[in-house]
Amino acid sequence: MARDFWAERGIALGEEQEIRIPLTRSYSGVSLELPIVVRRAAEPGPTVFISAAVHGDEINGTGVVQRLVVDPPFTLKRGTLLLIPVVNLLGFERHDRYLPDRRDLNRSFPGTPTGSLASRIAHVVTTEIIENCDYGIDIHTAAIRRTNFPNVRADLTDRRTAAFARGFGAELLLSGEGPDGSLRRAACERGCPTFVVEAGETWKVEPAILEFVTQGITNALIKLNMVEGERVLPSYRIETDTTNWVRSQEGGFLQFHVAPGDLVRRDQPLATNRALTGRVQNTIVSPVNGVVVGMTTMPSVAPGDPVVHLAYCRRGELLRVEKTLDELSDDSLYERLRGELATNVTVVDWHDDFVVEELPTEPS
Ligand SMILES: [Zn+2]
Repeated sequence: MARDFWAERGIALGEEQEIRIPLTRSYSGVSLELPIVVRRAAEPGPTVFISAAVHGDEINGTGVVQRLVVDPPFTLKRGTLLLIPVVNLLGFERHDRYLPDRRDLNRSFPGTPTGSLASRIAHVVTTEIIENCDYGIDIHTAAIRRTNFPNVRADLTDRRTAAFARGFGAELLLSGEGPDGSLRRAACERGCPTFVVEAGETWKVEPAILEFVTQGITNALIKLNMVEGERVLPSYRIETDTTNWVRSQEGGFLQFHVAPGDLVRRDQPLATNRALTGRVQNTIVSPVNGVVVGMTTMPSVAPGDPVVHLAYCRRGELLRVEKTLDELSDDSLYERLRGELATNVTVVDWHDDFVVEELPTEPS
């Protein structure tokens, strides 16, 4: 960038300052200001934003940003870091994904100055932050009653975005432009390569997730030569543009047989659906070879409810990754993530006697 936007706002190279960007006014007329910590290295370089809670209840990222402010695991050697703990302040106040007008801020970008509340907030974030940054990382979690194994979502068909996203060092990369109106899509369209990290659940700061995302951001900054050090490489890497939710066919109560981060083979049982009285109704099996990127944490399901979110992979790839995971020690970060996320769902081994009983045919 030709202009030094942050110097014009009184933050010189080598300084750190907390600033507040006026966003809008609340219902009671209180001025709503976005708090940002701007950290500048002594040497000029790229400007990178790290944003959290664009969905106001997805606060794992808020924990990560706080960690980067209070106890950063690196010294910034070059460039500028914008640390934004909460973008959707009005949603955050109510522990809610949405804005009070029920609009989704992450479907309102780039926004306009004369549109809805969501659109106006998105416009300020676009013009004040995104358009003054070279790269961005936007941290999310699964929606309520679901959890995600940490994964990176990025447009891997774009060379700069793909290089930046791969630099994070996640095992799972899901390729796509992102939904219309999302912050990351608007940022990429403005020449600011941005990816999303999806990790864990709402309303929590989960210890292994905090560690994983902090490590990934450090990796990404090392890749941009903003931080010194060796990147921690992922234990494997699966990149795919094909994922799908396996849905329940029956109303019932689930016993899960897999946890987030598990590898699954085609036809492997994912969950047993029982009637409330315990009778086995059916076994939900995997239609493909893949990895569990997300799942419901809610055992009670209606027909059509999403149960397990699978990232597809080829059989050869799956077998290679199985071998890699067999060799990981129990205290590796990957295994700790799997263990921690599995405590959010009760996982039981699948037994043959769970197989669906033949239902008597109705007399015609
Ligand atoms: Zn989100």
